[in-house]
Amino acid sequence: MEPVEICSKYCKSKCCKSTPPALTNNDFDRISKLQENKNWFNSIGQGENKTIVIAKREDSNNCYFLSEEGLCDIYSSRPLDCKLFPLFFKINKIKENEYNLRWLVWYCPLTDAKSLDVLKEEAKTKIEIILAENPDQLFEYQNAMYSSQGYKKKHFLYEERLKIKRSGD
Ligand code: SF4
Ligand code: SF4
Repeated sequence: MEPVEICSKYCKSKCCKSTPPALTNNDFDRISKLQENKNWFNSIGQGENKTIVIAKREDSNNCYFLSEEGLCDIYSSRPLDCKLFPLFFKINKIKENEYNLRWLVWYCPLTDAKSLDVLKEEAKTKIEIILAENPDQLFEYQNAMYSSQGYKKKHFLYEERLKIKRSGD
């Protein structure tokens, strides 16, 4: 089964019906271009802890963009939080061009189906692309996850530290 089938048919898109995804500025700008009305997002927290998350449907706990068929209406533009799931990361700059990323893995059917190693490699590739394009997004992701309390999830399966070097940092 393809990952999208596992999510929609086997798992019934459980993660799209739980904690709303936290948005980086880049996520917000990208999705805003697709969405004319303003009902799709919510602001949570205050001051420095304020962050934007995707809204829930009025009549359910489902993500605003989850279709009746259990698919994501903005799949290719979905937030970084959704692209990485079931992996989360925390980032620390340890020296001038070196970062420490600690993985937290949320157990879900996709973790079994794709394997942890494949998920980590995929997420690492996405992170490397972001580091090359606009590293601020990684820090925005982290701030958004803290503000939205996305890091308070429990039952993490696995943790690992990796170092990623940015050229030209
Ligand atoms: S990522 Fe995991 S929890 Fe989310 S829909 Fe897919 S299988 Fe389910
Ligand atoms: S944006 Fe898409 S992938 Fe992310 S929670 Fe909503 S429906 Fe799921």
